[in-house]
Amino acid sequence: MSNDYIVTEQLGPVCKISLNRPGQRNAQNQQLLDDLDAALEAARKDDSVRVVIIAGNGDHFSAGHDLKEAQEKRAGFTVEQRWAYEELRYFDYCIRIWDFPKPVIAQVQGACVAGGFMIANMCDLIVASDDAFFSDPVGQTLATSAVEVLIHPWVMGLRKAKEFLYTGMRLSAQEAKEIGMVNRVVPRVELEAATLAMAERIAQAAPFGLKLTKKSLNRSLDVQGLRTALSAHFDTHQLSHMTEEFKALRDQGLSKAIQKGASSV
Ligand code: ZN
Repeated sequence: MSNDYIVTEQLGPVCKISLNRPGQRNAQNQQLLDDLDAALEAARKDDSVRVVIIAGNGDHFSAGHDLKEAQEKRAGFTVEQRWAYEELRYFDYCIRIWDFPKPVIAQVQGACVAGGFMIANMCDLIVASDDAFFSDPVGQTLATSAVEVLIHPWVMGLRKAKEFLYTGMRLSAQEAKEIGMVNRVVPRVELEAATLAMAERIAQAAPFGLKLTKKSLNRSLDVQGLRTALSAHFDTHQLSHMTEEFKALRDQGLSKAIQKGASSV
């Protein structure tokens, strides 16, 4: 199954869902996000699917949200309109990946930035190629409070999350592995095979047992307040879209970022 922006392949018990805007570094426009959510929903309902891989076609996993589309279609949004758009497509779609009842692996190469970082870190496991890098520079470029889902401290530790967000730094695949955010780093040419091998290994486990294990593991973060913290940050992020700092940087930042092909919020 495929459409414009998403390609889905069934590889035995593994469903591989690939972002497919390689010419735009898999920048996430509205259609891509809607299609990704629909592909995941189909994989959720299909009992033959035991494990899902989320990948990106081309040289990069994803450069983040599509800034050009954001500027054209949503620059004049009211608070209410932006809230509705970002709650559904950025927050709810991400939480559905987190809560997906089967293991999900992110297969990451090249840029994994802002909205791309958010999606990859909703997955249970991350396999990265040695050329992969992670960043969330939107605080630096647009004065927003990170991206919509503040998964950062939960997957990289508080100290590193602060450095990462305050500086807008790039985190290499190797460093991401050292801090426990990435499971495996492999040469670029081995990325697909290594990710599929991990997925096939996981798919050998009984599916209901896996589902229960995932539920329990994720609940270990729920009892620490994960969901409340993520929900509270979404509100804070929305506030940061309305500040004078944001307004001053928005046009300049967006056009700069568009020129660089970088990500948006
Ligand atoms: Zn936002």
